[in-house]
Amino acid sequence: MRLDKFIAENTGLTRSQATKAIRQGIVKINGEIEKSGARQVSSKDQIYFEEELLGWLDEGLYFMLNKPQGYVCSNDDGDYPNIYQFFDYPLTGKLHSAGRLDVDTTGLVLLTDDGQWSHRITSPKHHCEKTYLVTLADPVETHYAQACTEGILLRGEKTPTKPAKLEILDDYNVNLTLSEGRYHQVKRMFAALGNKVIGLHRWKIGDVVLDESLQEGEFRPLTPEEIENLVK
Ligand code: URA
Repeated sequence: MRLDKFIAENTGLTRSQATKAIRQGIVKINGEIEKSGARQVSSKDQIYFEEELLGWLDEGLYFMLNKPQGYVCSNDDGDYPNIYQFFDYPLTGKLHSAGRLDVDTTGLVLLTDDGQWSHRITSPKHHCEKTYLVTLADPVETHYAQACTEGILLRGEKTPTKPAKLEILDDYNVNLTLSEGRYHQVKRMFAALGNKVIGLHRWKIGDVVLDESLQEGEFRPLTPEEIENLVK
């Protein structure tokens, strides 16, 4: 691909603005200033724009985000800010989330531009497990674990939930691992058990654990192993 096209696609500049910027000497390839927009570049090249390394968008984008409370995962809900605000142009318009969390739920959200990959994670057929740290309003009761294993009939539904694993951490906190993703599933499961969820944090999807070094609102690219593990 030509350098001017690469710069335009990855910065939001027009092609002629990109050409101008390249001529000004603010673009470096592998550490050397490059002033010709016609220079051919490939994904083996490290291309810097004003000292910032640009990614190769056509290689596939895969990120984990630590979602804070108060943000929605859809981009058409005008009542709340959405998680795409954490990403800069041109990523914003390219990503979608592989599954959603409620506005008040925090934690691990995967984002990608790869529709097949996200389908493998969200499709009920693939049983990709998701683990939540759940904080309850009332003390945990010992029969909850068995109820989760056996399946719980949610209000308004005809079939019980698939077997889920419940690990009791203390009187008010449990880890719950689901292999399906029904609407507000965790909150509705505990409502059916006569309790109320007051805190919900997703920390694991498949084998991928939310990176502890990520502050709320921060994201990082997934490693090749994480990308592979999620769909194996
Ligand atoms: N279950 C819920 O109730 N809410 C979420 O955000 C995720 C799972």
